[in-house]
Amino acid sequence: ERRPLMAANWKMNKTVREAQDYMAALLPRVDGLAGEVDVAVFAPFTCLSEVARMAEGSGVIAGAQNFFYEDSGAYTGEVSAPMLLDVGARASIVGHSERRELFCETDEAVARKTRRAVEAGLLPVVCVGETKEERDAGRMWEKVSGQVRAVVEGLGDAPGGSLVFAYEPIWAIGTGETASPEDAQEAIGRIRGLLGELRGEKFAEEARILYGGSIKPGNVSEIMAQKDVDGGLVGGASLEVDSFLQLVEAAR
Ligand code: 13P
Repeated sequence: ERRPLMAANWKMNKTVREAQDYMAALLPRVDGLAGEVDVAVFAPFTCLSEVARMAEGSGVIAGAQNFFYEDSGAYTGEVSAPMLLDVGARASIVGHSERRELFCETDEAVARKTRRAVEAGLLPVVCVGETKEERDAGRMWEKVSGQVRAVVEGLGDAPGGSLVFAYEPIWAIGTGETASPEDAQEAIGRIRGLLGELRGEKFAEEARILYGGSIKPGNVSEIMAQKDVDGGLVGGASLEVDSFLQLVEAAR
């Protein structure tokens, strides 16, 4: 049985003080949920150590939004997996579409980051998804399957439980336009099928696959009800504790 995961991606938002206020409000209210649903907060580097410190012992997973696959060296502006572990992070988003599109991350870089995360003991949440143009041109699966393949082929023999995928159609991110629950299920079901082809049934059954893109309290239940959807990766609606908590509740 895959445990549901509801994850907040704060993106480039929140000062240290705002992060502290959020965590102070969130932690007591997710206290009884351990074992039923995993809760993760993906914070900017500048407040990650504080988020991780506050989350320690709570069951809430503190995570980064990116890192570089080398451990140290002359890589100005980058942060490594061991550095994330050092401040108490246990997970990282990898290959978010904003990084792929705005910061030129390739499938190859995403695959190397995913592999490094797994080896280092960080849980990678690997994002895949197509643009509106790709979907309209009937190339959704070509894009998504290529992204998934690159990651899985670079993964060695790591088990399915060592990583999480997030299907985030780019046209649904921050637009208010959510994929229909059927579209989310179709894409996520196909991703699970591909994982089975590439690595076998056990791997496919163990790997969690989230949906992301304009999730909010009003649409979360029907998305979570889809059989292959294991949770959500949430931007806008995760920034306020009250709305994020409603999403966590819906994932139980
Ligand atoms: P929104 O929930 O704001 O659409 O963002 C989705 C996302 O990109 C999460 O990683």
